[in-house]
Amino acid sequence: MPPFIASLLFRLRQDFRLSIVSVFGAIGVVAILPFGLLRFAQGNWAAGTVDFLVALGIMLPAVYAWRGGSLDLAGLWIAINNTAGSLAITALLGKTGLYWLFPALLSNFFIVRPAIAVGLASAGIVGAQFHPGIFDSPGQRATVLTTQFLVALFAYIFAKRTALQRRMLEEIATLDPLTGARNRRAMEEEVAVALTAHARSGRPVTLMVLDLDHFKRINDRFGHEEGDRVLRRFVDLVKRSTRATDRLFRYGGEEFVLLMEHTDEIAVERAFANLRRRVHAELRARGEAVTVSAGAAVLRHGETREAWFARADAALYRAKQAGRDRLVLDAPPPA
Ligand code: GH3
Ligand code: MG
Ligand code: MG
Repeated sequence: MPPFIASLLFRLRQDFRLSIVSVFGAIGVVAILPFGLLRFAQGNWAAGTVDFLVALGIMLPAVYAWRGGSLDLAGLWIAINNTAGSLAITALLGKTGLYWLFPALLSNFFIVRPAIAVGLASAGIVGAQFHPGIFDSPGQRATVLTTQFLVALFAYIFAKRTALQRRMLEEIATLDPLTGARNRRAMEEEVAVALTAHARSGRPVTLMVLDLDHFKRINDRFGHEEGDRVLRRFVDLVKRSTRATDRLFRYGGEEFVLLMEHTDEIAVERAFANLRRRVHAELRARGEAVTVSAGAAVLRHGETREAWFARADAALYRAKQAGRDRLVLDAPPPA
């Protein structure tokens, strides 16, 4: 496959909304342009021109989105373009033009937020009612009104459900089911992003590996279920006592990783001291205190993910060796 096509497909797969804008855009253009040519061939210059303007009004924002422009804006532009275009073509062609309003109403729900799509649907449906002399009978008018309303209603329901299921799938794919912390898969993705961001900005970023102390004992004495409860309470506590930009991942078992952006040696010592205080005050297994050990490493310039994790892991090992319930920070590189 040519690299250009491969990178194109990659972007489409990565970005759901961009793919919706592009696919709907491409279909719209391919469907509309032949009708534009037909209108010109029939000598209907006004209708042909509207068709071409509508196609252009789909292509321009799609290109704008591909070049990194705002997807919200591109979607809004296309949705307004299609709704207004359908009404314009209805004004010129009468009933024949009215059919275009149906796909416009439907597609709007997938390219703009539901509230905006509802607004545009209302404007389109009401607008269609006011073309003079378009309906043969009140029955026909009522039929068009009702079917347009139903199309918009079903599109609304489907769009809402799709958005909900997407959110649920994202959660299942990125969260650890026991504790609700992010899982390893999410960690690998976010660590890669953090490495890139650091290479660009040079801002300090720190990795902290946390391991609960003597956890096997907790399981042995109080049972696996109490162990699970301690893990959940620990995650809850870490989330409450760290910054919103700190990301917590369950690395495996009773081991966790905190990815801390904008955090240097001083900040990480302070963050752990705060966390340790909270753990001492709140974390219990059947009334008995539970402690946590941690190893941390501030990312070095040009360091790989593997080397960075290895330093944090080695620091954790030293924390355990030194008696647990503490943080060991891997030394900065010799100047
Ligand atoms: P230390 O880290 O202080 O050296 O001692 P430890 O007892 O915590 O040592 P280790 O890391 O070897 O043991 C981890 C234990 O955690 C072993 C395993 O039974 C338990 N564990 C791992 N995952 C879970 C889990 O999901 N639920 C529960 N209840 N226990 C788990
Ligand atoms: Mg442990
Ligand atoms: Mg462990």
